[in-house]
Amino acid sequence: MTLALGCIADDYTGASDLANTLTRCGLRTVQTIGVPADELKLPEVDAVVVSLKSRSIEAAIAVSRSRAADKWLRGRGAAHVLFKICSTFDSTDAGNIGPVMDALRHDCGDRIVLVTPAFPETGRTVYQGNLFVGSVPLNESPLRDHPLNPMHDSNLVRVLARQSKTKVDLVDLKTVTRGADAVRARLSELSARGFGAAIVDAVFDHDLETIGEVALEHRLSVGASGVGLGLARALVASRKLKAGASNAVSDAPVGGPAACLAGSCSHATLQQIAQAEQVMPVLHLDPERVVAGGDEASRALAWAKGRLNEGPILIASSSTPDQVAALQARHGRNATGHAIEQAMADLAEGLVQSGVRRLVVAGGETSGAVVDRLGIPGFLVGAEIAAGVPVLRAVGAKDGEMLLALKSGNFGGPEFFSDALKLMR
Ligand code: ADP
Repeated sequence: MTLALGCIADDYTGASDLANTLTRCGLRTVQTIGVPADELKLPEVDAVVVSLKSRSIEAAIAVSRSRAADKWLRGRGAAHVLFKICSTFDSTDAGNIGPVMDALRHDCGDRIVLVTPAFPETGRTVYQGNLFVGSVPLNESPLRDHPLNPMHDSNLVRVLARQSKTKVDLVDLKTVTRGADAVRARLSELSARGFGAAIVDAVFDHDLETIGEVALEHRLSVGASGVGLGLARALVASRKLKAGASNAVSDAPVGGPAACLAGSCSHATLQQIAQAEQVMPVLHLDPERVVAGGDEASRALAWAKGRLNEGPILIASSSTPDQVAALQARHGRNATGHAIEQAMADLAEGLVQSGVRRLVVAGGETSGAVVDRLGIPGFLVGAEIAAGVPVLRAVGAKDGEMLLALKSGNFGGPEFFSDALKLMR
């Protein structure tokens, strides 16, 4: 296999989002969970997205896992690797975007790295280095209340500089609008002055194409699916892709009971849960009991087992920002998140043992915990449920055929859960 593009994603839903974008642009793409084992048989593809769960772990571990993924991808011919981060730049002053970028940059020898989380079609734009989520700056968006990575500064030049050892500056929109040569000139100027990273403004899709064209001349870029789109379009335009093999993923029905799990506390997911209450049985876990070590997962499983044969069900741990803050104040942010993620993984395992073969998961970290527990090594990318959320068909799973949808908290319309189940037959 010679890859046209290698990608390392810092969480599983982000990886699906990127794999979906690359597939839509015409790249045959597989999403793997972790660095693939040698015995995993992968189809011939143009791009591999290695999904890590490295967004909210210790920076040193995120670095070593990302380096292992990078080595695997480069070993399969990837001349360019995209380090895929969240389009809302989820991170803290301790990392992990800066430390991983620094390490991968060191390993590949690039003097300067293009960085942008912009993805205009999902409302993420960057102007003068400031990230906007829809019409508001990042620090005024619901991301200021994120349970793990609360974002209090919209200026990404500052945010990245606090995490990285290298100097960071900006390629502004005026330069991007002037085209690829202007961006190249600005990057040369910055790298001559010792800057190792540049946040790149992007407000329109077209800006991503300019960024993709320039990024492809480097060995590394850092960004969200928007950069993936730019890189994919540049690859297609350069005719570097092998023609021939089909992109089509089997849509043969998998059948069996279906279930949804929600661990995201995002505004969008809370709305989606409220909508789901109209059309399917919904169980709200007691987060306090989960964190205190009560056996909420067993109680929830017993509840689910009685209902699975009648139709889809939803189990949610999600609560409002005030409730999340109160729980974290009592038990600590990491301990709270971890306990709830593990309860969700227990539930997923129990549901699959009870016959569930179609599973929808809301929340990036939550999806990571669930997919790890189910031991699924990889996915082929199927139909798109909502922007950035494809139906995933498991490859090499020990439980046989399975369909999953892994949704980043903020993604999807109000009826996301029903929309997903309609496509997951
Ligand atoms: P998103 O995609 O919205 O960021 P994640 O799953 O990545 O969602 O993150 C949500 C985090 O919040 C997880 O660590 C999850 O375990 C935790 N969590 C879920 N429910 C609650 C709750 N009721 N109180 C506090 N934390 C919660």
